[in-house]
Parts: sequence; structure tokens; C-alpha cells
Amino acid sequence: MASSSSRRHVVLLPYPAQGHITPMLHLSKVLHSNGFYITFVNTDYNHRRMLRSRGSDSLAGTESFRFESIPDGLLPSPTSEIPQDDDVDNVTQDIPELCLSTRENCGAPLRELIARVGSSPGVPPVSCVVADGFMTFALEIARELGLVDLVFSTLSTCGFMGYLHFFELVKRGYVPLKDESCLTNGYLETPIDWIPGMKGIRLKDIPTFIRTTDPDDTMLNFDGGEAQNALKASGVIINTFDDLEHEVVEEMRKMFPRLYTIGPLPKFVDRIADDCPSKSIGSNLWKEDTRCLEWLDGREDASVVYVNFGSITVMTARQLEEFAWGLANSKHPFLWVVRPDLVAAGGESTVVPEGFVEETGGRGVVVGWCPQERVLCHPCVGAFLTHSGWNSTLESICGGVPMMCWPFFAEQPTNCRYVCEEWGIGTEIDGDVRRDDVERMVREMMGGEKGREMRARAREWKERAEAAARPGGSSYEQMNALLHDLQTGNF
Ligand code: UDP
Repeated sequence: MASSSSRRHVVLLPYPAQGHITPMLHLSKVLHSNGFYITFVNTDYNHRRMLRSRGSDSLAGTESFRFESIPDGLLPSPTSEIPQDDDVDNVTQDIPELCLSTRENCGAPLRELIARVGSSPGVPPVSCVVADGFMTFALEIARELGLVDLVFSTLSTCGFMGYLHFFELVKRGYVPLKDESCLTNGYLETPIDWIPGMKGIRLKDIPTFIRTTDPDDTMLNFDGGEAQNALKASGVIINTFDDLEHEVVEEMRKMFPRLYTIGPLPKFVDRIADDCPSKSIGSNLWKEDTRCLEWLDGREDASVVYVNFGSITVMTARQLEEFAWGLANSKHPFLWVVRPDLVAAGGESTVVPEGFVEETGGRGVVVGWCPQERVLCHPCVGAFLTHSGWNSTLESICGGVPMMCWPFFAEQPTNCRYVCEEWGIGTEIDGDVRRDDVERMVREMMGGEKGREMRARAREWKERAEAAARPGGSSYEQMNALLHDLQTGNF
């Protein structure tokens, strides 16, 4: 192992949401296990949530892997170090507010933090900043300080390609929408045949923030702008593998000469030696309920429907009820993660219908948050009802599990399109969810011919994901290139 003075020190800054923190932590672990000194920067709000979900000493880090936090500008900074259960807000923050606030308020504390950690005794000076694709203010700070500036886009390549074309869609007059009727009159079916590497897509497959009538819409401009800022970075890292998104990756390489496609990251974390102290650090913002793994152990192979809508999706009480009855009527056992803040505006999220769960005679188990990567690799899981977040999609591919997709927002419709049309491992559920449709889809996926075909294809994709991350595979080679370039500072 390198001495502390010759070690490269990388500061990693995720966007403050679960789906960004988890892959950034995976990348940090891979770098750490390869001899890099790591500073992982959360917002104060999420730092406290991670402490709470893991126990107070879990983020103490090791001598060469440190957690730091900065204010997000939305809430007063906490005063006590160790949070108690009831003094931590445990909900996903408002995404547009958080985007604006981090861009406005995180720069100064980040600059101060880089100076401080880099001049601490025994700590190597910072050599590189890896910023989330939605935290690009940090790239400019890195450049000002003479550091390598890398972007980690935790999205799919197809999703990222969509964001990269937001302003072109505006320029060509597709966006903003003329009026609200465009959302329902078929306008979103308009084919978009000119985005490189994305044949056959329609306006509705582009990240949802284009669905606005306001030219000054926060998310349209924020996400479009962030994607453009990434073009100035020294390199871009993506959690995908070439085989999976072949055409769009090839086109993206033309835009970013230093594009490192190093996914699926969980495969690289699996290979880290068990005695590497960072390997076991958890990234959960909610407390994990592992009892569901024991419940799964008692089921038959590929017999359980796993249902989870990620960390941000919210639904109405009616939608929850439609899903619940669709699942119950399908007569298949299911494991459903109902986050405490899953139901919008309120309190009703844990109210599932009588007779629905095992305790009241049903076939299901409901928990608040689960170890999803492990659940999706469990042999008893037969299908995944998902919101099509990128991490969930990749984790499902790693588990060889076909998907029923109910995309909620952002680039989830793009992912859904690729899952269903390009990879043939999923079907889409209408946004206006109906219990009969859910029931029919679950029955087809679990017992029908189409379901069998999709499960077979999902297993093939699982093999291909493993092959990409093995020595000689594309992601393995790309990861080595990234490690080499970071070590030599060759950008
Ligand atoms: N996750 C988890 N347990 C849960 C729900 C989610 O561990 O009960 C993890 C999941 O494995 C994934 C992340 O949270 O890594 C969610 O990211 P994704 O991109 O799928 O969706 P988002 O939450 O960003 O919408």
C-alpha cells in the first residue's frame, strides 16, 4: 500500500439523494480498495440520516476513508453530532429546491472543506474531485484549485444523452409544450429520430422535465445546464456496461473522449476483499429491515413478486390501493417496500387493505426499507415491480430478474423504454394504474409464456453484466483505465 504522502486523495460529492449516494459510495469503495485516500462529502441532512440508519459509529470511517458533510442551504445546520431517532427528518427533500439550493450554497463550504482536509497532518493533498452530474458547481472549484475535475453521472447513458439534448429540443421547438393538452393529446408520441445512438425514441421517452409549458422551468433549465457543464470536465464516469447501451455509449464517447463505463458497480464492490474496512459501509438513508430475507428463504424459486418504487417516488392513496389489490388478486406471494413517505400528503402510506398481508391472511409482506441488492439476487424473487430508477434497473439486471415498470419521473421513462424495447426484459404499466392491469401483468410475468421469455433474457443479461466486470470485460478494462489515469494524474 502506498505511503500517505504518495497516495492520491479523491474527494467525492454525490447529489444528496439515495440513488446518487449509493453508486458514489460504491465507486469510493473501489477507489479506496485500490489504495486511494477518500473523502466522501454528504450534506449535513443526509449525513445525519446515514448515522441514524446505521448507528452512531458507522461513519467514523477508517484512517484513509473519511466522511465529511456540508450544509445544503435548505435547513439550519444541526447542532448535535449524534442524532436521536426523533430529531431527524427522514423524508426525501424537494428535488427542485435542492437542485437550486446546492448550486447556490454548497460551493463555499466545499472549497473550505477541500482546503481543510488537504492540509490536515498525515493526509495527502487532494488531487481530484469527482462530482455528481447534478453537482457540477464542484467542477469549477476543482479547476480553480488546480485539481482534476471528473463527473460521475449516476444515470443510464440513454438518460444522460436525453439531458444533453434538452436545449436542442428547445432550439428545435419541441419544448416547452404549447399548452397542457400536449400531455394527453398524443403529442408526446412524436418520434425523435435525431438524438445520436437513440433510435426509435419518442418525446415521452426523454426525461420528464421537458414536460413543461414554462420556458423558465427550474428542472428543464437546471438539468439541461448541468448536462452541458459536464462537457467541460476532464472525464465522465458512467455506471453502465458497453454491451448494455452499446449504440448510445458509442455516440457518447464522441462527445466525451474520456468516458469511463464502469458498471455495474455492485459487481466491483463484491470483489473487494472482506478485510478492506470500507467494504461494509452502508449507504442507507432509511433503516433497513433484513427480516424479509428470512421470509424469502422460505419461498419457492422465482415465486415472489418484489415491489419497490425507490427513494423519491410518491403516489396517491388511490394508486397504492390499485397496486395492492392488483397484487393480492394475482394470488402470487409478494414482498412490498412501502417507504414511510411513499404516499403523497400523508400518513396513509402504511394503510394497506385488510387481508392483504400475511398477518391478516394475505400472501404479502410489507416492510419500510430493505436491502434491495440482496433481495434482487435472492433466487426466490421472480419479478420486480419497479419505478425504473437506474440503480434499481441495474440491480435487477445483476439479479437476472425481469421488470414490470411504472416510471415516475426524470429519466425513468427512458430506462423503461430500454428495458422493454431494447433489452426485452420488462413490460410497462400505465401511469394511471388499475388493479386489473396489475393483476394481468403479474400473472403473465410470473406464469405466462412472455414472462418465461423475459426471465430467460434477464438471465442472459445477468451473464453479460458479469462478463463485463470480469477480467478482460469492458467495464473491468475501463475501471483499470480510470484507476491508472487517477493515479498518474493523466488527464
Ligand atoms: N434501495 C434500497 N432499499 C429499498 C429501496 C431502495 O436499498 O428499500 C436502494 C436501491 O437498491 C437503489 C437505490 O436505493 O440502489 C434507489 O436508486 P434508484 O436509482 O433505483 O431510484 P431513486 O431512489 O433514485 O428514484
